Amino acid sequence: MRPLAPLYIGAEIYARAAFPPPHPLAIPRAGAVEALCRALGWLDGNYVTSPVASRAELERYHDADYVEALARADREQRLDDAARARFQIGVGSNPIFPGMFERASTAVGGSLMAARLAWEGRIVFHPPGGTHHGGRARASGFCFLNDPVFAVLEFLALGAARVAYVDFDAHHGDGVEDAFADDPRVTTISIHEQNRWPRTGALHDRRGGSARNMPVPRGLNDDEFAVLVGEAVAPLVSRFAPDALVILTGADALAGDPLAKLALSNVALGQAVERVAALAPAVVVLGGGGYNPWNVARGWSGLWGRLAGYAIPEPLPEAALAVLTGLWSGRVREIDPAWLTTLADRPRNGAVRAEIRQIVAASLA
Ligand SMILES: [Zn+2]
Repeated sequence: MRPLAPLYIGAEIYARAAFPPPHPLAIPRAGAVEALCRALGWLDGNYVTSPVASRAELERYHDADYVEALARADREQRLDDAARARFQIGVGSNPIFPGMFERASTAVGGSLMAARLAWEGRIVFHPPGGTHHGGRARASGFCFLNDPVFAVLEFLALGAARVAYVDFDAHHGDGVEDAFADDPRVTTISIHEQNRWPRTGALHDRRGGSARNMPVPRGLNDDEFAVLVGEAVAPLVSRFAPDALVILTGADALAGDPLAKLALSNVALGQAVERVAALAPAVVVLGGGGYNPWNVARGWSGLWGRLAGYAIPEPLPEAALAVLTGLWSGRVREIDPAWLTTLADRPRNGAVRAEIRQIVAASLA
């Protein structure tokens, strides 16, 4: 057992509007998770407010020119064509919106703090973090900065000899893999949906040895996921023997996500996080993607309950039900009635396809 109890990191900024509709992130997410956990009485005495990372902190990874462009885009709510093209800010899926710089910097500040607090010997949950596509000098896939990279860098700065990064988001953790591809102190392991944006992270792509990639077929079920985690991810992490872990638990790997086609239950995802988290003394657990607000709110609240040792009350208290019924989405057409009254999904069992066994064998080879 770790000496210290788990902590939750959040901030008021996540309750405010951010990405403009119809952007997939224009839904309640981290703010709803926090509201739900609060309604359950699960944030008493274990909640820490995220600081905002300074420019100097951001430049520990990101290029100064890029950080300045991001700050300017927020300040002026526009960016010239050359800068847009160079930095991918205000382009496609990375829109300019008020507060974008503070919001992104807060996620970095939270992940830096998460690593510092975890290093004392605990699990720290930082659900607003998880912007794993952000590049050193470019925005990508809804991510302006890359807060998971900062959690890893902070662990290294604190003296960790080896840090493992495990990414369960439906999309490949390309930005974090890029950041540490040449660093033997860091291994990055990503399970993600095949043929899904950003289309990197092929099975045999190890980036010189430090990375493992497990692209999985559509419809990945709980039993297949348990095989991957138990027979490939956990042994790989154990073999690496990290001093610290960063785990990204995207809610877009859950069944019913509008941008991905995996089919996990939130119980399976929670069990996987718990299993991997047991493999190091210092653990940061980040959010990530997730475009069905009920999946995000129920999944990550339930995960916090699991990590912090709270039992889900039956029935849920009125204040928690009010959070669930207050969620909305322009993309999720069918709302399962269970999403409005429960936190835990029913199991989503299924046959383990041969392809899954092949992925395990290739990853361990
Ligand atoms: Zn994702």
